[in-house]
Amino acid sequence: MTAIVETSAEELRLAARELAERRFAPRAAEWDEREEWPEENERILAELGYLGFLIPEQYGGLGRSFLDAVIVLEEFARSCFTTALVCHLFMNGPSRTITVVGSEEVKQRLLPKAATGEHFIVIAVSEPDAGSAVTDLSTRADVQSDGGVVLSGRKSWVTGGARCTHALVFTRFGPEPSTGARGIGAVVVPRDTAGFGIGRTDRKLGGRGTPEAELIFDGCKLGPEWVLVPGNPQTTDGFRTLMRAFGAERLGNCALCLGAAQAAYETSIAFTKERHQFGRPIAEFQGLQWKVADMAIKLAAGRALLHQAARNAADGFPTPWDTAITKTFINESMQEVCNSAIQLHGHYGYTVEAAVERHWRDVRGMALGGGTPEILRNTIASLAFGRSFSQRRDGS
Ligand SMILES: Cc1cc2nc3c(=O)[nH]c(=O)nc-3n(C[C@H](O)[C@H](O)[C@H](O)COP(=O)(O)OP(=O)(O)OC[C@H]3O[C@@H](n4cnc5c(N)ncnc54)[C@H](O)[C@@H]3O)c2cc1C
Repeated sequence: MTAIVETSAEELRLAARELAERRFAPRAAEWDEREEWPEENERILAELGYLGFLIPEQYGGLGRSFLDAVIVLEEFARSCFTTALVCHLFMNGPSRTITVVGSEEVKQRLLPKAATGEHFIVIAVSEPDAGSAVTDLSTRADVQSDGGVVLSGRKSWVTGGARCTHALVFTRFGPEPSTGARGIGAVVVPRDTAGFGIGRTDRKLGGRGTPEAELIFDGCKLGPEWVLVPGNPQTTDGFRTLMRAFGAERLGNCALCLGAAQAAYETSIAFTKERHQFGRPIAEFQGLQWKVADMAIKLAAGRALLHQAARNAADGFPTPWDTAITKTFINESMQEVCNSAIQLHGHYGYTVEAAVERHWRDVRGMALGGGTPEILRNTIASLAFGRSFSQRRDGS
């Protein structure tokens, strides 16, 4: 195999499609059924350079654009959602945050091995009692005299957590107690740090090849070199930087939804031409033609929003407005596309044999991971009205 050489977005898309159809599609159902991480595909992605796709060339990556990344991820997800999700975790996850906000020393230390896949850095934000209310997080980094920290806390539902080499952890910085967004920053924790434990993983509806795990930090001692974004108990600056960085993750999430829904759409067209009822192909019924037309409209609109958001992100992160509008629309409308695909297939669509039920299950979880449409609507409303609307009873 040779590394990616394609230059134009269209060449890149065609190369990603060819690779995904040939190498990833054949086992797509198997990863889901066996709830198995697609290790062999992760190796292929590493060998071809896709894992370091967005990492700048001086740190061993390909230095490609966000737009190229969402195009590639959509193509991968069209053939195998599980493989695309693995690729997304490497491309848009913590390595993107480190690329944009990390110091030169941190980039040199972490990015070259993230680009080759030797480092798998997961993102640990959610906690048992802090899901949508991220600013309720209670994981604490006690700052030491040398600038290092001692980290204690418990994180939930971390995708790929059980396989990680490092975790990027959102935490509150001490020693003074702080609340809300003030004092939140982030550290990177190597897996071999004393006190770093892996807790339970849950069985789930979709995305079954990439389980979420609980991560436990029991007095993990970290030198100052592992502090990525210091939290200041007097300000919300650290939290704002991190949430902006999270936008990259959210656009990748959208690309996966589009790919899975595109597959459901294409399968539906093929099926309705083949399936006969009342002596004719069911594609001849206008009610079904319009369903397919609505699917096409949603796909085209979602793709246009995503490409615009990716273009606007340039070398940094997508804007909060682009991110919230795009993820809300795509998370909801791609569920509708997949649901229509099941309906168009009748009972067959309800069976495991037809991939459309898997597409729906995979897309479903994406409307929870990376922030829900309800919370993103709060962001959109805040930006539309030019003020924030506290969700807390006390208005803080
Ligand atoms: C597939 C998947 C992958 C994930 N990966 C990760 C990961 O890698 N790392 C990580 O840290 N987390 C991860 N998560 C967790 C995810 O970020 C949370 O599930 C999400 O933030 C929602 O939190 P919650 O599940 O606690 O729901 P809750 O916050 O309990 O919300 C329950 C419901 O109430 C709604 N709601 C809550 N507050 C409001 C409000 N103010 N206004 C309107 N509606 C509201 C929510 O939208 C939701 O519908 C993942 C989740 C999934 C499903």
